[in-house]
Amino acid sequence: MFELPKPKTIIEPFRIKSVEPLSMIDINERTKALVKSGYNLFSLPASLVTFDLLTDSGTSAMSNTQWAGIMMGDESYAGSKSYLKFEKVVSDLTGFEHVIPTHQGRSAEALLMNSMIKPGQVVIGNTHFDTTRANIENASAQALDMPCKENESSELEAPFKGNINISQLEEYLKKNHAQVSLLIMTVTNNSVGGQPVSMENIKKTKEILLKYNIPLFLDCARFAENAYFIKLREPGFEEVEVKKIAQEMFSYCDGALMSAKKDAFANIGGFLAFNDEKLAAEIRSAMVITEGFPTYGGLAGRDLEALSIGLQEILDESYLSYRISSVDYFGRGIEEAGFATVRPYGGHAVYIDAGKCLPHIPPHQFPGQALSAALYQYVGIRSVEVGTVMLGHKDPQTGEEVLAPKELVRLAMPRRVYTQSHVDYMIEVMQSLSPHLKNLKGFEFEYQAPVLRHFTARFKPL
Ligand SMILES: *Cc1c(COP(=O)(O)O)cnc(C)c1O
Repeated sequence: MFELPKPKTIIEPFRIKSVEPLSMIDINERTKALVKSGYNLFSLPASLVTFDLLTDSGTSAMSNTQWAGIMMGDESYAGSKSYLKFEKVVSDLTGFEHVIPTHQGRSAEALLMNSMIKPGQVVIGNTHFDTTRANIENASAQALDMPCKENESSELEAPFKGNINISQLEEYLKKNHAQVSLLIMTVTNNSVGGQPVSMENIKKTKEILLKYNIPLFLDCARFAENAYFIKLREPGFEEVEVKKIAQEMFSYCDGALMSAKKDAFANIGGFLAFNDEKLAAEIRSAMVITEGFPTYGGLAGRDLEALSIGLQEILDESYLSYRISSVDYFGRGIEEAGFATVRPYGGHAVYIDAGKCLPHIPPHQFPGQALSAALYQYVGIRSVEVGTVMLGHKDPQTGEEVLAPKELVRLAMPRRVYTQSHVDYMIEVMQSLSPHLKNLKGFEFEYQAPVLRHFTARFKPL
């Protein structure tokens, strides 16, 4: 037997059995579609997008086993076999006794907030995801973010930029612990670019909360990606199985909530899991009004089957190695193609710093919008602006734009969907586009809604 060097190429650990044609339209058709959409990529028909990197949510490719599971779904109204299997899988992973399925992440949030928090209370987070924040505020409570210091710089190559700021948390609780009802740790930290949280940070957070008897919940939408980052980056975990790492993450928590549209390879679904018996009874009785009976929670039995299988498949380390390195490969390629990026690359997306790529377009003329429109027009990519269009607003008094802290464009990678040649193609065309970035023009609004304007806005090029 010969000893060969370890291959540098990391392959997709699957082969393809069912294919979906890509939209192969040319630049003229894309230009027409862009003008018709008012330069807003949310208004594009998906059939005119070649690479849909708008989100990694609900866009995963399911496996042959998951599709087979779909046929095995038990559609009994109460106590279906598919629910009992789901309950077992989630309990085994999280260690929690009560498992409540929901139709997606935000319904788990709404049920939890409405049962657990009282008006005027505070819910702390490493950084709350926007629907989490909305559900906290909808329950008349305050959502308070405490991201760690490392997270302020976009270039700093720190291993766990998703962490909560421990010293800020300690200081805050000394004075204000009485009004805090809950802490939600989001793994990976989606709102700061899919950056991971370390085991040490979760453990330390729990230690601090124990003093004040404040519960800790894990928003575990991307728990497997986070666990794999711990294996890669945190001393002492190099040899530990990813499932064991995930189980240890849950072991420091009092409960978990999940949007299963992310790390469960499912197109729809979510859950709540915890041990508190009284809370379980309260939520199960409340959910009947909006989600459905507690053993299906707004899902079909077949969805629960697909979720149970997805939650086990996601822990396959050859998959996670491919996942994390393919996002990293894409990020490096984009950087080498001449675009400034936010580093290190997160688990599910690459962020381009449009403010740095297009320094000639001032923030009030939306450089992120200009870049995302150009990526569609020239490369066929649908991305999303995460800058002043999404996070800023028009000052009602002065009429001036209140700016976002950074002008970013997010390219989210659906799981198991695009191959390396898709990624190589995108990088190649972006490299050809790069010398022309200086000629891109900014935008102004033609129409903007008073809230959540990014979804429906129309723009005019300047
Ligand atoms: C997507 C997401 C949610 C909301 O879940 P939906 O399934 O979209 O309702 C909550 N938290 C995090 C971290 C998410 O990424």
